[in-house]
Amino acid sequence: MRTRARWRDVAQTAVQPFARRIDRDALVPEQVIDALRVAGAFASGFPETLGGPSGSAADPVVAALDHGAMHEAMGRASASVQGLLNVHHMGGSAVARWGNATQKDRWVPQLCSGSLLCGIAITEPDVGSDIAAVKTMAKATGGGFEITGEKAWITCGAAADLFVLVAASDGGPVALLLPKTTPGLHICPIDDMLGCRGYMMARLVLDGVWLPGDHVLGRSGFGTSHVAATGLESGRYNLGWGCVGLADAALGVAMDHVKTREQFGQPIGEFQLVQRLIATMMTDIHAARVMCESAGVARGQKALHATKEATMAKYFASQMVNRVARDAQQLLGAQGIGPDTPMAMYFRDARVMEVIEGTTQVLETMIARYGYAETMG
Ligand SMILES: Cc1cc2nc3c(=O)[nH]c(=O)nc-3n(C[C@H](O)[C@H](O)[C@H](O)COP(=O)(O)OP(=O)(O)OC[C@H]3O[C@@H](n4cnc5c(N)ncnc54)[C@H](O)[C@@H]3O)c2cc1C
Repeated sequence: MRTRARWRDVAQTAVQPFARRIDRDALVPEQVIDALRVAGAFASGFPETLGGPSGSAADPVVAALDHGAMHEAMGRASASVQGLLNVHHMGGSAVARWGNATQKDRWVPQLCSGSLLCGIAITEPDVGSDIAAVKTMAKATGGGFEITGEKAWITCGAAADLFVLVAASDGGPVALLLPKTTPGLHICPIDDMLGCRGYMMARLVLDGVWLPGDHVLGRSGFGTSHVAATGLESGRYNLGWGCVGLADAALGVAMDHVKTREQFGQPIGEFQLVQRLIATMMTDIHAARVMCESAGVARGQKALHATKEATMAKYFASQMVNRVARDAQQLLGAQGIGPDTPMAMYFRDARVMEVIEGTTQVLETMIARYGYAETMG
């Protein structure tokens, strides 16, 4: 395992220098992916027995926090890169949890090394928050499934080698391992996203794809309630940390600015109204980090409340990063609005966070239900 300082060093040296280029080109360069492979970033969060970080089995709490530290560091360096690592882990954790021994042996070591990149394909043009309503149909035939439909807004869709695909079937929602080379799978890249442009988004069109029965994860009926749920819980945990890092990056730029920008004969950071914004941002970020740490401890302990904690951490952190990005941009004045600035990128990237891995409103309904369940007599 790596320490928080080590992840920060990896992110600062191998990712951050490319962040603006990633945003401009909507592409994560291969040399960044290679550096992440060497640093072990793709293995982070996987069980040690399947190729995850050495030492993680002995101390799962430290491992969960270390994984969070990796996402925080990447979120600070590039929200796009954090997002790629996030979906890789969302799909990968679903394979590691629900795959049978053969599936795990075949896929997980390659996911841990980063020689294969993973995505997770749930959303459809007509199906967003209500994931149990997926319409892409997996029809049992010839010992496997013939699959027809369309998946929308898939992060890493244009770059992933393997997708965890969630479809409808006669036995209920089913999750299947879908290699990108499968005949009948058409990958259509999506350009001009508002934020997180390096997510390398794509739409997936499945036109008579056939997958053998041994590509099913878990079993038919498990697709959303078990397999997608595992991926989404990982995603919420990872994204909470990513938001902390992204917010911290925006705060850092604002801090540098208010210390040097002079108006009315003094640095603007000397004005108390500016200090209030700085203090609010610092406290907001700290609160989100503490929530993520608490979620990490629960995750490492496999506590019953781990899912609720990850949901609450993501819910809070994704709104927090929008407050911080807005206030940090405000403190830069015109320089926060001007063309091709890091602050403009942080602001755009922050908008993505309240939509993915459960929108703010959908997470509110989930959190309230956790509360109702806990208080049932
Ligand atoms: C950058 C990006 C990356 C993404 N990556 C992936 C990916 O890798 N894989 C994948 O499968 N999907 C991905 N998605 C899709 C994402 O998961 C969905 O956008 C998200 O689940 C919301 O669905 P929707 O956009 O269809 O919005 P809708 O579900 O149509 O919601 C629209 C609005 O209605 C509100 N709403 C909906 N239901 C309720 C409710 N019950 N109560 C209150 N309000 C409600 C929502 O909060 C939202 O404000 C990505 C999306 C983006 C933008």
